[in-house]
Amino acid sequence: MQHPKKEQTLVIIKPDALQRSLVGEIIGRFERIGLKLVAMKMVLPDEAFVEAHYTLDSEWRRVTGEKTIRSYKEKGKTPPSEDPLEITASILERLKKYMTASPVIVMVWQGAHAVKIVRKLVGGTEPLTSDVGTIRGDFVLDSYEVSDGDTRSIRNLIHASGSVGEAEKEIEHWFKKGELVNYHLVQDHILYDVNLDGLLE
Ligand code: GDP
Ligand code: MG
Repeated sequence: MQHPKKEQTLVIIKPDALQRSLVGEIIGRFERIGLKLVAMKMVLPDEAFVEAHYTLDSEWRRVTGEKTIRSYKEKGKTPPSEDPLEITASILERLKKYMTASPVIVMVWQGAHAVKIVRKLVGGTEPLTSDVGTIRGDFVLDSYEVSDGDTRSIRNLIHASGSVGEAEKEIEHWFKKGELVNYHLVQDHILYDVNLDGLLE
């Protein structure tokens, strides 16, 4: 079994974050927690590639549709449709426009609990309710109320894999094997070395 420090996750800095010059700020947050950047590139994806990304998980359409219907009802609102697949079809159309509006930065970050740690730093999907201190909570103010009213995607700056399985599929979708680099960071020693040998002169 591979060591937990080898866990990897995919992060996409979405067009709104790039346009707002938040790339350095966002990368800095992943760096300072101790994650290791093992791949990075700028991409201008087309709509088919974005659709393929969101539908890598065959359950995504149903699960996201059901989740959205539930969230409307919890707020006492009527969902635009009772059919989860119809809801997702319209979410997907809006996502395709959003994600192809400008280049995105796509990265792979590695470290212990990389998937959960990155999700924690990124914050909840809707910026209105994302925790203060998270990227979505600190740098953007969008809500479903506003984005749905304007028939567009919620602008939430970042995509991050939701699980280890999702990360594996997404990394394979965006990167060729040779684009990921195995290397040591000096800080790996203090983060993961068992005995902390060699620190004293
Ligand atoms: P994430 O992993 O936090 O980005 O969120 P999900 O994977 O659950 O959803 C992916 C995308 O679908 C989000 O970034 C939104 O654009 C859209 N989405 C998810 N849930 C909702 C919802 O309840 N309402 C609307 N309008 N869009 C949603
Ligand atoms: Mg997701």
